[in-house]
Amino acid sequence: MKKVAVVFNGGTISMKVDERIKAAVPSLTGEEIMSMVTGIEEFAEIESHSFSSKPSPHITIQNMLELSKFIKSLVDREDIDGVVLTHGTDTLEETAYFLDLTIDTEKVIVVTGAMRSSSELGYDGPFNLATSICTAISEEAKGRGVLVCFNGELSSAADVTKANSMALNAFKTPNFGPIGIVDNNKVLFYRKTKKHKVYYVESINDEVALIKCVVGMSSDYINYFIDKGYKGIVIEALGRGNVPPSMVAGIKRALNNNIPVVIVSRCFEGRVYESYGYEGGGKMLKDLGVFFEESMPGQKARIKLIVALSSSKRIDIRESFKNNTNIM
Ligand code: ASP
Repeated sequence: MKKVAVVFNGGTISMKVDERIKAAVPSLTGEEIMSMVTGIEEFAEIESHSFSSKPSPHITIQNMLELSKFIKSLVDREDIDGVVLTHGTDTLEETAYFLDLTIDTEKVIVVTGAMRSSSELGYDGPFNLATSICTAISEEAKGRGVLVCFNGELSSAADVTKANSMALNAFKTPNFGPIGIVDNNKVLFYRKTKKHKVYYVESINDEVALIKCVVGMSSDYINYFIDKGYKGIVIEALGRGNVPPSMVAGIKRALNNNIPVVIVSRCFEGRVYESYGYEGGGKMLKDLGVFFEESMPGQKARIKLIVALSSSKRIDIRESFKNNTNIM
């Protein structure tokens, strides 16, 4: 029988409503959650680990690196076939992508959680855990990078984002649907997963800013982050990757200070492209030397830039943002 390590790391899946304040707080242990996943012993041997009980807004980049090292130590063990990690859903996509970028393994790593706490009707934690464990023991799921499993749907950590603040199927892949499903305890994939670079990271520097572009925005935020000594800037630009002309001076200043600037779109779907040649248009930005991350939300492009800038091997950041589309 295959062995799966389940790493409990907080989130709503481990929460209960505290009657005094009428709101959900961390309360369940890993053992208490596992006891609700009835019958799972017929599928896999489970080894439980308690990593943290954090709500995901409390997760830091440092925590992500600690998690990455811990999960690496589990997948390096011969007796472990796969790993399931629980995580709060709010920042789950960032941790899942961080793990994807920093763990080099063919073994299955699945990140899951719950949208309803154990005090609510329709608590989805046990179902999500059960389907994640079915995924972790699946031969077909091997070598696909880190996967996210919710509501019976599987997504690539590289592509997925939380698109709904309350629905059980909150996780979506812009431009595409899920890469697979878990149906009747079996994992079925609809398409292949794109291979991407894995980074070796020993220590992490998270001084990378994310700026969401709005109408008439000035260079003030960019200048603030340059003056603060930030090492990189991600801009969620308008449409195809354009900014108001008043941001161009800030972008030039960042680039002249060797601070990489990554452009993504604030649109949910589509890709950025050098379509427009006017002041602040994508073509002009590209010619100045910004990088395009073609189809990814800003919070994930920020994780990628943080990891690339923290790589312990000397790498050319340009290479990290070349051929950077998730479109196959
Ligand atoms: N706010 C919670 C968290 O991210 C939401 C959840 O886990 O679903 O920890």
